[in-house]
Amino acid sequence: MIKNVTVIGAGTMGNGIAQVFAQNKFQVNLVDISQDSLQRGMANIEKNLDRMIAKGTLQESDKNEALSHIETSTGLKTAVSHTDLVVEAASENLDIKLGIFKELDNICQESTILATNTSSISITQIAAATSRADKVIGMHFMNPVPIMKLVEVIRGYSTSDEVTSTVMELSRKLGKIPTEVNDFPGFVANRILMPMINEAIEALFHGVGGVSEIDTVMKLGMAHPMGPLQLADFIGLDVCLSILNVMHNGFKNPKYAPCPLLINMVAAGKLGVKSGEGFYDYSESRKAEKVSAQFSS
Ligand code: NAD
Repeated sequence: MIKNVTVIGAGTMGNGIAQVFAQNKFQVNLVDISQDSLQRGMANIEKNLDRMIAKGTLQESDKNEALSHIETSTGLKTAVSHTDLVVEAASENLDIKLGIFKELDNICQESTILATNTSSISITQIAAATSRADKVIGMHFMNPVPIMKLVEVIRGYSTSDEVTSTVMELSRKLGKIPTEVNDFPGFVANRILMPMINEAIEALFHGVGGVSEIDTVMKLGMAHPMGPLQLADFIGLDVCLSILNVMHNGFKNPKYAPCPLLINMVAAGKLGVKSGEGFYDYSESRKAEKVSAQFSS
């Protein structure tokens, strides 16, 4: 039975994952190598809970209880000593993830399930860095985690039936709807989403339309709640680039090659909401304002 959970990475996804476990009364250790990220992550959780109180969907006492379920740490060893499940949500980088899983395998109890929130990296390859491939699984939450219902549950080549059903059941306990898929680059969610986002960036790159025109076409024409460029800003342009690179390398198919504009923007540090600017300007708030200079039509 899962009671204690360690979430690794307190960024866009990690703080949301920690919040959802804490609100469902799991004991959570939130770990990040950066103290700044931990502080920002906890501030974001408080802000989300306050927003729920303002909307009348949460009591002040529930907020305090949820916060009391979360401890933070920059060190992995003590955080995982009694953990039943690790959900790794560190940066989308193969070497970082392989290093984390190797270490987890050495320091966690034998029974601990090791899940990754990776958007695209092979679960089988991550599992091969451990001596417990049967207990390694993808638990892919969607952004923003407290709101989005889906958890894409990805079975690696050796993931056991028992671990898969534990994670499916656990996702339901969190109020989510899990869907089981197999382990190929990008899985299902990003195999379909990222080519669309990349194509929207290509359309901008080739001057087919401006930022707001491209997003408006997709919002009003296809009934998408958010345009693909704004969505890319929310995901993080660095994360989008990493996912496209994984699919491009994994399938050796040029259709997944990232647009040069995306590569340039990431190199320039324009990562979207988290850096304050991407296709839109977020310097004043998380509300998207049009970046006036180079991207308007
Ligand atoms: P992010 O850049 O917002 O945060 C990553 C965090 O990981 C940072 O705080 C960083 O300090 C921390 N970190 C890096 N190396 C670490 C290490 N060795 N140990 C502990 N912490 C470490 O990234 P994110 O958007 O939250 O993405 C995290 C994971 O979730 C990635 O695998 C990503 O593909 C996946 N994901 C992202 C989204 C999204 O919309 N952003 C959606 C679903 C899944």
